[in-house]
Amino acid sequence: MQLHYIANAGQPSSSGRTIPVIDPSDGQAFDELQRGTAEDIAAAVAAARQCYERVWTKLSGAERGRLLMRLSNKVAEHADELAALEQRDCGKPTKQARADALALVRYFEFYAGACDKLHGDTIPYQEGYSVFTWREPHGVTGHVIPWNYPMQIFGRSVGGALAAGNVCVVKPSEDACLSLIRVAQLAAEVGFPAGAINIVTGYGHEVGDALARHPGIDHISFTGSPRVGTLIQQVAAERHCPVTLELGGKSPQIVFADADLDAALPVLINAIVQNAGQTCSAGSRVLIDQAIYEPLLERLGQAFENLRVGPAAMDLDVGPLIRASQQQRVWDFLSDAHVAGIGTVAQGQVVDEAPETGYYQAPTLLRDVPVQHRLAQEEVFGPVLAAMSFKDEDEAVALANATHFGLVAGIWTRDGGRQLRMARRVKSGQVFINNYGAGGGVELPFGGVKSSGYGREKGFEALYGFTTLKTVAIRHG
Ligand code: NAD
Repeated sequence: MQLHYIANAGQPSSSGRTIPVIDPSDGQAFDELQRGTAEDIAAAVAAARQCYERVWTKLSGAERGRLLMRLSNKVAEHADELAALEQRDCGKPTKQARADALALVRYFEFYAGACDKLHGDTIPYQEGYSVFTWREPHGVTGHVIPWNYPMQIFGRSVGGALAAGNVCVVKPSEDACLSLIRVAQLAAEVGFPAGAINIVTGYGHEVGDALARHPGIDHISFTGSPRVGTLIQQVAAERHCPVTLELGGKSPQIVFADADLDAALPVLINAIVQNAGQTCSAGSRVLIDQAIYEPLLERLGQAFENLRVGPAAMDLDVGPLIRASQQQRVWDFLSDAHVAGIGTVAQGQVVDEAPETGYYQAPTLLRDVPVQHRLAQEEVFGPVLAAMSFKDEDEAVALANATHFGLVAGIWTRDGGRQLRMARRVKSGQVFINNYGAGGGVELPFGGVKSSGYGREKGFEALYGFTTLKTVAIRHG
């Protein structure tokens, strides 16, 4: 049985109730977590506040950095254990679960080095004045985390907040939180003071909502769906609490006729099948120059047919989806595609060893998806790739920008001028040219425009969002 982790100790919920933890590979419950309450959130916020005022603000940046570095090393020692937890909890193939654990190591390492490098400016002003700015932490930050990459999102969000001098109350997803409870325990073991990292588990409409409403939360970092992002923003607005929103995407990969297709092909596929397509930055639309549309679709189709789907521990190309309702969601999209007469180019195969009770979905490549169809507009959050063709740069830009989202874009071309023109014209928070995702890129600021959210996490830029700026103007005596 899992407990909340508050003030460096396991704590049961005041509700006395639990939520089953399901293994997506076979649909069976194997553990229980606490069904938290507003009271549990209040206890976590009180512990965090006490830590902030009595201990955390007394530490120098260098001291905070050493703690984060110790945590990075500790997570590295426990990487296999954490990957195994996340694999069972989320249905991740071994290589993905391990990559996520190593990304967490890297986030803590990066932010350890950033703790003592954040500073304000001096500003030239009128004669007789000295003016400067301080970057101050918000205080107690709230972190609402989704189920698709618990360790990675915890690393970027909590790592950045701690580095900027905040203490954290974390609400992981009810569908995946085992690894994060363990990381909080490891933080206590390496000397994090009680209350610096607190984990309260439970349902979003109960615990997540209570966190967003709590007056002791000074900033909220939310990663999740646009629908819940809107709710959080509304609740936070009532008390003018600053929010960072990392929401969904319908990211385009734009392939011109002069692209290196051998290099592009595996990247295009990985961008939609990684984590079974349950990735905010999934490259879920492929926009292809009409001159190479048919040949590229054929190559993509052959590759899709070779993709194998099965239990996480088999470490195949694709694992299960997170839960039955997510599987149903993908089926609904595919059935809508069928009704609209959208053609299927190819599908992968679910292996015979996959239990019928698991949540499997074969990767599917669809062609000529009309731009206004929901398959070209909405996040499926499954391994479904929508292909469409364009005739020139203008049409490629129009298609790329024709959704409410703007998270990531991939551009494949050898033409240097076109690379920069397209990067300018595409509306998104990140643009990758002749690659996609750049291997995780802990150092690279990440976040969206339009309905993909606002604010930036990852990289040094995140620290500006996790602090507030105070201006001090001194009139010389
Ligand atoms: P979700 O919005 O359903 O849940 C996210 C978190 O919010 C969970 O912890 C959930 O319990 C909580 N929550 C739910 N209702 C709440 C409420 N009323 N008040 C407060 N908290 C509440 O999202 P999900 O299904 O867990 O994750 C998938 C979504 O996350 C996708 O849209 C995906 O694109 C997005 N995502 C975005 C990024 C990014 O960096 N932009 C990264 C990963 C996932």
